[in-house]
Amino acid sequence: MSTVDKRYLELLDRALRMLPPRTSSGRRLEGIQLKVIVAGKRTMIQNFKELCSILNREPSHVARFLLRELAAPGHIEGDSLIIQGEFPRQRLIDILTRYIKNYVICPVCQAPDTILVKEKRMVFMVCTACGAKSSVKPMA
Ligand SMILES: [Zn+2]
Repeated sequence: MSTVDKRYLELLDRALRMLPPRTSSGRRLEGIQLKVIVAGKRTMIQNFKELCSILNREPSHVARFLLRELAAPGHIEGDSLIIQGEFPRQRLIDILTRYIKNYVICPVCQAPDTILVKEKRMVFMVCTACGAKSSVKPMA
């Protein structure tokens, strides 16, 4: 595994375990605690807001990415993300992993300590660890 892969898997793992950032590192993706309930043709991520706060990203941004990748409608309700349709947990994890790789991890130093900055029509990722400014893939 490359360093980048390792770092984002670690971050996802940390996020999904809902642990404070400092206690992490080296954990594996087993036994992750993304709380997913599928019922009545809807999929609910119950701890969605908490996940976003650990990733330090706007829930609306994470939701937009997830829903677009799933090609499904959905909305945020309280702490949960409600998605229309039934989706396996692993698929949600795969998409969140992609989100972290594209929008959270600094491509220069692989730190997860980044913020997204909008400039005109472009979005950049600014790393608070190394100061790098990188362009990110636009999200329709
Ligand atoms: Zn960096």
